[in-house]
Amino acid sequence: MDRVNLLDLDAAALTAYVSSLDEKRFRARQLQRWIHRRGARDFDAMSDLAKSLRTKLAEHAEIVALPVMRDATSSDGTRKWLLDVGLANAIETVFIPEDDRGTLCVSTQAGCAMACLFCSTGRQGFNRNLKTSEIIGQLWWAEHALRSSAGVTASEGSEGERVISNVVLMGMGEPLQNLDAVVPALRLMLDDNAYGLSRRRVTVSTSGLVRQMDKLAQLCPVALAVSLHAPNDELRDRLVPLNRKHPLRDLMAACQRYLKHAPRDFITFEYVMIDGVNDQDGHARELIALVHDVPCKFNLIPFNPFPDAGLRRSAPERIRRFAQILQDAGIVTTTRKTRGDDIDAACGQLAGEVQDRTRRAERKQQLPPLVAVHS
Ligand code: SAH
Ligand code: SF4
Repeated sequence: MDRVNLLDLDAAALTAYVSSLDEKRFRARQLQRWIHRRGARDFDAMSDLAKSLRTKLAEHAEIVALPVMRDATSSDGTRKWLLDVGLANAIETVFIPEDDRGTLCVSTQAGCAMACLFCSTGRQGFNRNLKTSEIIGQLWWAEHALRSSAGVTASEGSEGERVISNVVLMGMGEPLQNLDAVVPALRLMLDDNAYGLSRRRVTVSTSGLVRQMDKLAQLCPVALAVSLHAPNDELRDRLVPLNRKHPLRDLMAACQRYLKHAPRDFITFEYVMIDGVNDQDGHARELIALVHDVPCKFNLIPFNPFPDAGLRRSAPERIRRFAQILQDAGIVTTTRKTRGDDIDAACGQLAGEVQDRTRRAERKQQLPPLVAVHS
């Protein structure tokens, strides 16, 4: 019989599992702390667990995260791990250190079926959803690897200082297309016996799956970022093909519904700045009208190039002007600093290795280019 990977289990599932081994339910809490707060993987080391439980666990369970294929650190301190998800597929996890926080950018799928035009992951097509253990395993691995690099160790009576203070589901994949695995992973991120992050410090980013936004609001409302990228349906249809199914009107309504449950009183709209495509003054003015009744902030992301993208980043002056127009209309607007681009770890550059099962990459080549890239 296959072993149970304990990284697949949130608190409720772990409690049920411990009960199924004829052990007291409160043991699950201790076990969970060993796994997530101390990064333990060896049952024998879990000194305050009854010997009977340790023996059963050693026989039937395991704690296994994805194997690391590559570990690269950028000149700005950003660190990226390439993780093997089997059958010649790999995903990426990125840690971004800042003065006042440490953010981990987590992947939720091998590839992505959404096919956004400006995204390296989207160009590669989709292979499969990640499991809960593979999603939370990225945090489990990164937190404890970073602690050992920083020389922070858990000692008797202490579980060590936390290095990762924020998690964003902005790596490879569309998190809301994999809610069944994502929700237990989110619950562990929030759980005081695991990572204890507040709902405001965990952000799910979506390209706009309207029904699943409602589901997330019910199941586990964390901070929400919505990838907007265009102020009208005509342009968004081309940049984010999902828009053909869920146009902007429906998306704005879904944002308003989400806000009733959200831990923050605004939605973050992400907007990738692509030269000559969506970055003109008129686009900014259209955006202001579009979001007039949705409390929001804007995060402008300078487009990050990747091979054969056929698109270019807007000039810094253009981005400043665009931000100013939004700001003058009273919308808080920030521009994301590009981090880790020397190791291809910047937004939208995550490529991992994906064996496309949708043959999207092939079909894509036959589409006409969006704009002629002027030299
Ligand atoms: N699938 C989700 C989350 C992963 S993408 C989503 O689309 O929201 C995380 C963010 O990076 C999104 O806002 C996405 O639009 C942006 N992004 C994708 N490709 C990019 C690129 N080449 N340059 C800059 N940002 C990019
Ligand atoms: Fe998928 Fe997000 Fe990339 Fe679009 S931007 S293809 S939704 S990962």
